[in-house]
Amino acid sequence: MISEGVGEYEADDIRKIVTRILHDLGNPEPPLNLTHLRALLNLNIGYYSTANTTLLQDVAARVRVGAKQVFERPMLLVEAVTKAKLSALWVPDTKRILIDETVPKPKHRWIEGHEVGHSIIPWHREFLFGDNEYTLDPVCHAIVEAEANYAASQMLFLQQRFSREARDSNLDFKSIKAIAGRFGNTLTTTLWRMVEDRDPAAPVFGMVTAHPHYPEIGTGDGGESIRYFIRSQAFREQFGSVTPETAFALVERNATRRKRGPVFDANDVLHNVNGQQCEFRMESFCNSHALLTYGVFVRVRPTLIAV
Ligand SMILES: [Zn+2]
Repeated sequence: MISEGVGEYEADDIRKIVTRILHDLGNPEPPLNLTHLRALLNLNIGYYSTANTTLLQDVAARVRVGAKQVFERPMLLVEAVTKAKLSALWVPDTKRILIDETVPKPKHRWIEGHEVGHSIIPWHREFLFGDNEYTLDPVCHAIVEAEANYAASQMLFLQQRFSREARDSNLDFKSIKAIAGRFGNTLTTTLWRMVEDRDPAAPVFGMVTAHPHYPEIGTGDGGESIRYFIRSQAFREQFGSVTPETAFALVERNATRRKRGPVFDANDVLHNVNGQQCEFRMESFCNSHALLTYGVFVRVRPTLIAV
């Protein structure tokens, strides 16, 4: 869902492809209708279960590269899917997107956007993509995953339509919720876009983390407290030395014991690359799955010189 990790030329190509698709859909109003999108692209969606493998076996039997069948034994695909704990698959030959039916419903839209992303990027066509929780994360190390996420964000947020609305809105959770509702996307993905797209020239960071007082909320499967650390372009340039741990320390210091809804609204300090103390306005909101936080630069604090 981000441009971080995507090359300039690739990002440009992906934007052009999405622009054409949105044009062919009649430049729709938000939210983007995924049924219409699939119909236009001639894609099918299927929901598989690792308990009942009929669909997966059926797909495996038909995956071919040229004339060669990829899976000599269809159970090999089933085993691969089960072992890697995949939550989705893109099967180019059959124009099928397969989603694990046990993945929570609110995540389906993003996952589907990501898999459609693989399908519309011409240089992804020769791969069979299996996506697990890790590669579907908005921050992925693999370039192709970042590209599929970028395509998903371009489609689901209707390109400039989102940037325009975001710029006309304040950066606060009230706006993030309103925009998430209008575009039909989750609070997390909307927070992400707001941090990166609303004003790339302003230093802004965002975090998706565990709740410091209730670790059962938001802690990752591997026990990690920090799920995502999101940064605007200006933040990356001016606050490159701020680690996810440094930013999370501010969340830990300010978090109240409120379990749901607004958790804190506070100003705190981060150092920029020149070592200056910079004040950030921060707001944190708990959607009961994780703690979402953003921080926006306010001012450089004047240095007090002792005489
Ligand atoms: Zn993928």
